[in-house]
Amino acid sequence: MKRIFAVMVLCLFSMLLPELRCEAVVIGNDWQYLTADSQGKWKYFDFGKFQSPIPGNNHEAWLEVSMMPTEPWENTLLFSIDGQAVEVFVDGSKIYADGEFGPQFLGHGKKWHMVEIPYVPHETMLLFHLYADHPHQLGVFKNFIVDTQQEQARRIFAVDFPYIVALPVAVLLSMVTLMYLFNRPEHRRLNIRLLLLMLLMTLWTVSLSNVKQFLWNAPVVWRFLENFLCYIMPVIANSVIVEILEEDLQLTVKRAVKAYGFLAAFALLLELAGYDGLVVCRQILYATVLCLQVFVFRNMWESIKRGNIYARFALIPMIIMGVLGIADGVLLYLHFWQWHVYLLPLGIYACISFVVCMVREQVIRERDLEAHAEELTAEIATAMAKAEMDELTGCRNRGAFEEFIRQKILKGKAFALIMLDIDYFKNINDTYGHEAGDRVLYHFSELVRSQLEQPQEFFRWGGEEFVIYCPGYSQEQACALAEKIRHQVEIHQFFRNQQITVSAGVAKWYEGNDSQVGIFRRMDDALYAAKCNGRNQVVME
Ligand code: GH3
Ligand code: MG
Ligand code: MG
Repeated sequence: MKRIFAVMVLCLFSMLLPELRCEAVVIGNDWQYLTADSQGKWKYFDFGKFQSPIPGNNHEAWLEVSMMPTEPWENTLLFSIDGQAVEVFVDGSKIYADGEFGPQFLGHGKKWHMVEIPYVPHETMLLFHLYADHPHQLGVFKNFIVDTQQEQARRIFAVDFPYIVALPVAVLLSMVTLMYLFNRPEHRRLNIRLLLLMLLMTLWTVSLSNVKQFLWNAPVVWRFLENFLCYIMPVIANSVIVEILEEDLQLTVKRAVKAYGFLAAFALLLELAGYDGLVVCRQILYATVLCLQVFVFRNMWESIKRGNIYARFALIPMIIMGVLGIADGVLLYLHFWQWHVYLLPLGIYACISFVVCMVREQVIRERDLEAHAEELTAEIATAMAKAEMDELTGCRNRGAFEEFIRQKILKGKAFALIMLDIDYFKNINDTYGHEAGDRVLYHFSELVRSQLEQPQEFFRWGGEEFVIYCPGYSQEQACALAEKIRHQVEIHQFFRNQQITVSAGVAKWYEGNDSQVGIFRRMDDALYAAKCNGRNQVVME
């Protein structure tokens, strides 16, 4: 990752340096200016590489320079100006004009101009009429060069390289962050701030590019965004860090956020008051970044030592973006490039690690949640089965039976029920004790179960009473089964010298007008009849 980044920066340098340092060969060195101060006399103007403004405290000026005979195809003048309206004349006739010659709200913006120059076979004069928002902008041209139209177009887009490289990543990271925005309520603030940072990075990168002029020819808006977002991004970036850090480490970073906020507000006020505040305060901004980020770094380092994984992944982008931001400032004031290129947008690549960390953490959490959900489902199933189960006999209980029958009735299937009741069970308890009674219940249910076949279901109704569900059975078939069970119980030796018997009542489901309560009552009545007739017998309803 770091290697890719280094290679990209090197490519960028090698691409841009020769481009940005070539000079216009057809323009002379005899620049002269005329302002209200110069009492009608043209004065020599040093149009150096690191261009300074026209001397004096003027907003308007005329600038003149000789131009050698050009080749017919070298017919395009390229220049960019900041905060100025301009008119261009060749041989006394106006060939180009842009902007209003008077004060404008938020100034004239920043713009590059491509002017087609008519073919003049002899040496001629190129004349500019300028109006500047501020005297310190008057006569400051950047990228002044005459060349073929094709070369000029190439020149414009060559400097967009870092922005074109950064933009898709910024957009992609914005989308990824947006996807995770509402995923975790406890991280919502962090996600919103991160999304905001990504969107601002995207917007700022567009505002730096030259393509923006094609997207929307609004130099005032773009200049404002280019300059103002520089102040806002440290505010948002550090507020992301606030969300990452532990509470006791947040205070310093919160103060840094406030300091950047104050500076942004101050620069904006100066701008609105007409003092070009956003440009004037830039030096303060870069110095502030240099100082405050050291404190932020210290707190992040402390947090990393405590094992904060977010801080670990945010540290790299923080350092890289801080360094690139300060490098931008230094290169800007050194006039390192004729056409200034910001390196900070490339810092978006460093943000990948942080967004990946967030997504990774999210994925791990989702996987844990899924595993937990599976465990819970299994636990619920076990708990439900347990709730339906009678522990002593291993039969399902009465609640389960009633629900079971309800479902069968809904499905409209034919069935019969057998109710079993151990005879004189109370005596067994009284004679041998409750525990012996339990053992009888256990062995009794084992015995009954051994007599049943697959589709039949066995339930404990309560106490020493049981029910057998016989699907598709006629009353006779159910009676035969009950009789078989009764006989097996009768011959089974629960105790050495005490016989145990069981009585049974059988009832059939009559679809149509029958009801759950009805069949239970009939089954109970039949059992009651068996008891009254002397027990140890099966009675059909
Ligand atoms: P009948 O022939 O009329 O059915 O007489 P019975 O004694 O079997 O009936 P009764 O309803 O009078 O008594 C049932 C007894 O079953 C009462 C209760 O103590 C006993 N019993 C109910 N559940 C359990 C149990 O889980 N374990 C034990 N050991 N006894 C139970
Ligand atoms: Mg009973
Ligand atoms: Mg009984």
